[in-house]
Amino acid sequence: MTSVTGPPETMMEKQHELTPMLSQYLELCSQHEDALVLFQVGDFYEAFCEAAEVVARTCEVTLTQREDSTGTYPMAGIPIDNASGYLKRLVDADYRIALADQIQDAAEASGLVDRAVTRVITPGTVVDDELLEAGTTNYLTSVAQSESGTFGIAAIDVSTGECFVTSVGDRAGLSEELDRIAPAELLFGPSVADFSSADGLTAWSVTDTDPALFDRGAAVSCLSGYLADPADRLETDAELRAAGAVLSYAEYTQGDDGSLEYVSRIRRYDHREHLRLDAAAIQSLELFENRGLGAGETLFDVIDETSCALGRRCLNRWLRRPLVDREAIEQRLEAVAALTDNAVVRTELRELLKDAYDLERLVGRISRGRATPRDLRSLHATLAVIPELREKLAEIDGTALEGHRERLEPLTDIADQIDSAVVDDPPMELTEGGVIRPTYDDTLADLRSTEQAGRQWVAELEAHERERTGIESLSVGHNQVHGYYIEVTNPNLDSVPEAYTRRQTLKNSERFYTPELKAREDEIFGAAERADSLEYELFCSLREKVGVETERIQRLATAIAELDALCSLATVAADGEYIRPTIRDSTAAGIDIEGGRHPVVETTQPSFVPNDADLSAGEVAIITGPNMSGKSTYMRQVALTCVLAQIGSFVPAEAAELPVLDRIFTRVGASDDIAGGHSTFMREMSELTEILHDGTENSLVLLDEVGRGTSTADGLAIAQATTEFIHDELGAMTLFATHYHGLTNLADEREGIFNLHFAATREGDEVTFLHRIAPGASSASYGIEVARMAGVPETVVERANSVVASSEVPVDGTAGSSVGSSESSQPPADPAPNEEPDRNSGGTDTERPNEQTGAVDDRVSYPDEEFETADSDDRVSYPAEEFFGGVGDPAVDEPLDEESIVRVAVALRSLDVASMTPLEALNTLDELRTTLK
Ligand code: ADP
Ligand code: MG
Repeated sequence: MTSVTGPPETMMEKQHELTPMLSQYLELCSQHEDALVLFQVGDFYEAFCEAAEVVARTCEVTLTQREDSTGTYPMAGIPIDNASGYLKRLVDADYRIALADQIQDAAEASGLVDRAVTRVITPGTVVDDELLEAGTTNYLTSVAQSESGTFGIAAIDVSTGECFVTSVGDRAGLSEELDRIAPAELLFGPSVADFSSADGLTAWSVTDTDPALFDRGAAVSCLSGYLADPADRLETDAELRAAGAVLSYAEYTQGDDGSLEYVSRIRRYDHREHLRLDAAAIQSLELFENRGLGAGETLFDVIDETSCALGRRCLNRWLRRPLVDREAIEQRLEAVAALTDNAVVRTELRELLKDAYDLERLVGRISRGRATPRDLRSLHATLAVIPELREKLAEIDGTALEGHRERLEPLTDIADQIDSAVVDDPPMELTEGGVIRPTYDDTLADLRSTEQAGRQWVAELEAHERERTGIESLSVGHNQVHGYYIEVTNPNLDSVPEAYTRRQTLKNSERFYTPELKAREDEIFGAAERADSLEYELFCSLREKVGVETERIQRLATAIAELDALCSLATVAADGEYIRPTIRDSTAAGIDIEGGRHPVVETTQPSFVPNDADLSAGEVAIITGPNMSGKSTYMRQVALTCVLAQIGSFVPAEAAELPVLDRIFTRVGASDDIAGGHSTFMREMSELTEILHDGTENSLVLLDEVGRGTSTADGLAIAQATTEFIHDELGAMTLFATHYHGLTNLADEREGIFNLHFAATREGDEVTFLHRIAPGASSASYGIEVARMAGVPETVVERANSVVASSEVPVDGTAGSSVGSSESSQPPADPAPNEEPDRNSGGTDTERPNEQTGAVDDRVSYPDEEFETADSDDRVSYPAEEFFGGVGDPAVDEPLDEESIVRVAVALRSLDVASMTPLEALNTLDELRTTLK
């Protein structure tokens, strides 16, 4: 822990001399060693010493100091009234915060006010709406390891009470599950502790915890507050300990009596119940995060047309865990279809859903006793929408949404209770009255009418006394200090009656009271004060009563959430021209998409070219084509189409028949994963190994330029061996985009492996990508033209051209390697780049690449004329060495690939040589050289 938390050293040195307040601060700091203590002093939360510096810097507030006889201490404070924005900054900066509130009325305290830590705010246990993003989940997650090495994982969203437990067999599985949960804060059990640093998990905020938190005994006793027989209900010891840890930590941070009653259900699931998307897939498919530069849209952005936070959170959960149960998928599809067909009803439903508040978080606040009067009104407003939602749903023919309608319980008993008690537009403050309708309670009604009568009497007093005394300027007023008074200006003082008693003398007037006025005043304030505190009590007991209904409200929240998510999917389907996919029996797995589009890229592209995909179980499609021609986009769109279908969504295509996939793997080659930064060749290989172990014939595997992180020969060897293994052993459906042209020969050797390519046309120096998939292997990469398009200086481009022209490097990157068939290492017929292409040399290779196996012909149904114009006619065939760069001396080196050349050229161009030290220059030079190795 940093010196920012725990007792400040400068204070510790003077421990025994400190003022009582600072000793109290010091003590609270030592009780909460790992948290930054914010110490209430009047209207501010103050921090001292190093913590003050952090608060000042992070919250951009002034650093002041506190001086007393023992010394001078840095101090920084944030206003309590307005604390949430500042707290958010501190939490975002990864500080745990202990709020030390005054728990005693300052007026009542003799000497030092009592203070105690009422809550600890950590990234994973935030509950305040102001500190949380709307419609998101915020999981505190814990991991415990069993003796056999498996892991138990438990997660809780403290703001909503959602809690679940699962198990995974190994570290890879753990890493995958954590990526799916995306924890805001992680607690590792004793033997798991070294995990974070080792496995690239540092992205999560990991909290050091006391190993005792993971004690089995403690876990059982904590859990028995939530589950009948915890030890029986949870699968393993590790699950039990993880669940115990996560709940007791959550309790500890919420202060008070701790128990989180709104955690009404601890769900246990098995990861086989969902389509498994590992971390790499979630990232490279850009489901939730766009990894490109200047981050753009994600799949979630595209499908999120939800109207309320509940729906948004639900859709997010659906996308993190697509279904594998065909029935369940069909049910959602059926509902989406019904909502797509009923556009008017859908629009009205969505309009109504906008009035639904975030009941999941609201229930949390009610149950924690932190809900305000306005929260209860929000609950009421949401309940008020339910009957209308039901009516609208009844307008839809068929049974698709019947279940949803039934689950929308209006909870009229709760709604009526709230409405009869809480005024329509209650104030923020709970303690100052005006919250409860006087009609709600007889005593309250009496008190309020006494108060009212008194005020009325005072209001009439002025006229009455003017008449009685004949003083025209006499007035009746009220102030905080002196209460009610009768004011008479100096010239009229002679006319003041005997019964007036002087209360206050001002410059031009005197203020008086009378015994009657005094009595009335006491009556008014007595009644008001009692009424205010009675209201407070009434509100609290109402809140408790509503809290008892937590489970019913939670069930309703789920129903609203799902309806909203379905409406969102239907809206996207209708607006985006998606179609309903046919879900195949999983046994007859195989993907068949006609006119498929990439759901995200199509929204950012002025015109998107649809493509077909036809991939049966056990088949491997090897996709070649120049850079930027659309390979990655194509592969991802196939995967995204499957993901969408399995969350029950329509898909962007003209027609689609899809299997129920069990897993989607994506592997993006190291050199293609520049944004990821951490992807090394080693990592790439270890991830590959994982596929090789875990894939099944129901898995979809996307390999994007895998094997690029090493030399060409090794890379091709690995790529080829991988393909063979996946094909021969796993039988997974596989799309493999590669620049290893040598790989395309596999199509001739193995049934079920076939080639696809993306073509480009070229006019003069311009390259145009058609973004259209076609059968067969590509024959040219246009690498140098792409380099020119990327802005590489003309001289470099020319030089590259001439190097290529004079190069004698064997083609296909097979130099010095024994992989690849013998034909592949022979240069094809050699048309000069700018000559009219000869259809019978490179062209033939493209059009009929797999005559022997017949694997290609009907693979992609492709209108003939389009194929002709787009592909054959304009096709320029290049010697294959260009595809691989083909630069360098084959006797000394591996051939260079064109992308490295481009990268080095671009890097060189952007160097600011003048500002570099010689050492920096040397280092840079060395780095660039490594890039070219
Ligand atoms: P590759 O992987 O072959 O290098 P990408 O798939 O990354 O190519 O595509 C490069 C760019 O081409 C994409 O960013 C997109 O803008 C565009 N693109 C890809 N596929 C299509 C398509 N089918 N229709 C229109 N534009 C596309
Ligand atoms: Mg690519």
